[in-house]
Amino acid sequence: MGVKVCKFGGSSLSDAGQFKKVRDILLSDPERRYVVPSAPGKRFKEDAKITDMLYECFRQASGGRDITPYFAPIRERYLGIVKDLGLPIDLSGRLDETQARIQTYDNADYTASRGEYFSGVILSCYLGWDFIDPADYIKFDKQGMLSAEWTNDILGEELKKHEHAVIPGFYGSLPNGEIHTFSRGGSDISGAIVARAAGADIYENWTDVPGFLMADPRIVDHPKRIEKLTYRELRELSYMGATVLHEDSIFPVRKAGIPTNIRNTNQPDHPGTMILDSIPDSRESVITGIAGHKNFTLISIEKAMMNSELGYGRRVLQALEEAGVSFEHLPTGIDTMCVVAADSEINHHREEILDKIQQACRPDILEMHSGIALIATVGRGMVRNPGTAARLFTALARAEVNVRMIDQGSSELNIIVGVDVEDFEKAVKAIYEAFV
Ligand code: ASP
Repeated sequence: MGVKVCKFGGSSLSDAGQFKKVRDILLSDPERRYVVPSAPGKRFKEDAKITDMLYECFRQASGGRDITPYFAPIRERYLGIVKDLGLPIDLSGRLDETQARIQTYDNADYTASRGEYFSGVILSCYLGWDFIDPADYIKFDKQGMLSAEWTNDILGEELKKHEHAVIPGFYGSLPNGEIHTFSRGGSDISGAIVARAAGADIYENWTDVPGFLMADPRIVDHPKRIEKLTYRELRELSYMGATVLHEDSIFPVRKAGIPTNIRNTNQPDHPGTMILDSIPDSRESVITGIAGHKNFTLISIEKAMMNSELGYGRRVLQALEEAGVSFEHLPTGIDTMCVVAADSEINHHREEILDKIQQACRPDILEMHSGIALIATVGRGMVRNPGTAARLFTALARAEVNVRMIDQGSSELNIIVGVDVEDFEKAVKAIYEAFV
């Protein structure tokens, strides 16, 4: 029998009704042996996520204020879930202790981790499954980096002792025993770590969307769902803004050759999106998805005979490095070079960078254009389909979109174009219509 590890996001555990759905999903398949819950999320649009409420408690406590009024709604949420599920446990004592600890301990990670901890305690009681505290098995080093192999060994050994277990997401511990969390959304990473340690056949990531869509539904009307994609494609798409999974959650499972299946808790029979290491060639669509991001700046540098000047590119990049700015893309011509950087990186260093490039490179023309949006068209099918670029650029030309930058990564997995921000939506629609 295979093993499935299931991670459920906050919206899948926001109230007792959602806990019931989670239980039905888990019990409907005996291969679903390990579950990684998030903290309860929003029940409705204006609602608050438990994790955000906990961070607020931390802020109040570190400002020396009494957190009772801030902790009260958290206590109510958990006690309400326990009551609505009719569980024979009383969490009041543990909640009191937690409140007292948050009040005095002054540790943001400990505070935030309690969201997942209590989700896990409730779920383990509801399912009758063992509870494994990740503080004992998910290990970080002193710098807060995951000790991946150590974790994999000790967690793997522990999981073998449990037929079924609940392992809360989002946190582990530092060498001194203190709780440490991943960055926000990090239960996805915990789920992937558990999947690897369990030697799972599949990592099911249950959320509130039916998988990845080929384009942003706010731009394209009812975009098609992506049925299958590779981890490399996912990386390209999520880097460019498609956010369903925490991007670091790819690494543990990809390494172990475990597919990730994005599923929807509210539509449990829907197959969702499957992410695999590789997908055999088929006649499916040329492109897998389109994703994009606004707020980039283009630095264009032109100098006659740039190509024969030794170290020219290095000097341009050094100017950025010295200003502490990392860049995203670097398309070059014979006498031209173009550096693309995110506005968030470059904003406070614009003058400094221009001065440095001017001094070190003496360009004929040096310009900075902000208000650029980048659009990545991603697809493993592009390599074996001649004419993909022509189709893409024809579509953009027909839509009267002016292309400011082109970059085709060496992997032939994606084509990135830079367009003016005003043309962003129009360009995404045009590309989608040309291929889908
Ligand atoms: N509860 C944490 C957060 O809101 C982690 C997670 O849900 O993945 O970021």
